[in-house]
Amino acid sequence: MSDQKGRDTQRPSIIPRADHTVSRANISNNALKVLHRLHKGGFQSFLVGGCVRDLLLKHQPKDFDVATDASPEEVRKLFRNCRLIGRRFRLAHIHFGREIIEVATFRATHDELDDDDMRGQTDEGGRILRDNRYGELEDDVWRRDFTANALYYTLDGYSIWDFVGGFRDVEQRVLRVIGDPETRYREDPVRMLRAVRFAAKLDFSIDDPSEQPLWELGHLLADVPRARLYDEIIKMFLAGRAIESFRLLEHYRLLIHLFPALVEELEKDKDGQFRKLLLEGLATTDQRVREDKPVTTFFLFAVLLWAPIKTRFDRLHGGGMPPIPAMQRAVEEIVKAQQQRISVPRRTTIPMQEMLALQSRFNMRKGVRSLRFLHHPRFRAAYDFMLLRASCSDFDGEAAQWWTDIQLADEKAQREMAQVGGDGGSGKRKRKPRRRGGRKRSREQGAKE
Ligand code: ATP
Ligand code: MG
Repeated sequence: MSDQKGRDTQRPSIIPRADHTVSRANISNNALKVLHRLHKGGFQSFLVGGCVRDLLLKHQPKDFDVATDASPEEVRKLFRNCRLIGRRFRLAHIHFGREIIEVATFRATHDELDDDDMRGQTDEGGRILRDNRYGELEDDVWRRDFTANALYYTLDGYSIWDFVGGFRDVEQRVLRVIGDPETRYREDPVRMLRAVRFAAKLDFSIDDPSEQPLWELGHLLADVPRARLYDEIIKMFLAGRAIESFRLLEHYRLLIHLFPALVEELEKDKDGQFRKLLLEGLATTDQRVREDKPVTTFFLFAVLLWAPIKTRFDRLHGGGMPPIPAMQRAVEEIVKAQQQRISVPRRTTIPMQEMLALQSRFNMRKGVRSLRFLHHPRFRAAYDFMLLRASCSDFDGEAAQWWTDIQLADEKAQREMAQVGGDGGSGKRKRKPRRRGGRKRSREQGAKE
């Protein structure tokens, strides 16, 4: 059966267990429990969204989301360990120790509602302002963003229900917007960033009609709440595919709407040093994610904002301001301008400012201060950032080596190193003659902050 828009709303294609690779062995036991109990309670229940897509791709899903025709209250009655969250659209969170299974009642998109209901629900740009109606499974499909994210897995025959051709798209690694791409991007411009995120993360291509509007609609990101953009940026850059995400954001001219000061500096960056540092920093971040090491939002933002911060710093420091206050001021000014686009929380900006203000201490090797610096709570992050700068000739390589050596030395050797400072260094290594020069030279090298 088709609706007035010609969509086949009633009949999904059902992919039987024999024809797909989703195995219960890879589904969280808690998610299976939730599906079973809803089913026994007489409700429909499906795994949906990213987890089905990831299972098909043989990725480990981040989490398991369930969709059901039970209302949130009905879900709560079935599970003791259930909390309802959200004011506008209520979701049930079922807690199993540290794992949470999110259960959402089928939701209708605005275009399933009649005209009266629609009034006042989108702004002039077409952005959805309210999205809080329950619906049927058939409605729930159409509100989702990409076909690959709209597959439903049921324990009933262990089959996958596909209303939108998502199964084939996953097989062919294509990201395709459900419905008219421009309309869907206008309804929620974050979907453009999601397109980039999924293309990067899953190594999918974006199909042509879904791709074209990306080049034109970046300006719509200005209407998105700034805190939501921050969350989306974090998801995009801390998922192990930061370099590719950055490349796509630039390619689709979305970056300038998110980080205008960065784009401006990259355009002026003739020898490409800032770009090099940025890509190097994102590569390190990706590497750490792959190795399951912790990554921090403040380090990420330092990498993303270093070009404008350093430019501002050079101007302030060159005008006579001492290095630490100059760096603090530069960070404040650039963060303030950045907040116009993306709301970066203080828990990110404060440690970022601390870490960057410490950069000048790497120029002071002589004396006990350098030994004390080794025990500073932010030493490690500051050191990592300094290494990044050194790898892009933004900091003196010999000095960087000294800081590496001193950490490896025993206490006695550390004291000796600090006594001679940079001029005698670690003793054994043969070193290049130290360059001398006035402020102009050192500013160019960026080593004498
Ligand atoms: P991830 O692995 O990154 O969590 P995901 O696909 O699960 O990917 P979520 O942000 O967790 O992404 O969203 C879950 C599902 O909700 C998506 O798969 C999609 O079906 C739907 N969805 C989320 N955000 C949107 C949106 N802005 N517009 C339409 N549908 C959305
Ligand atoms: Mg998810």
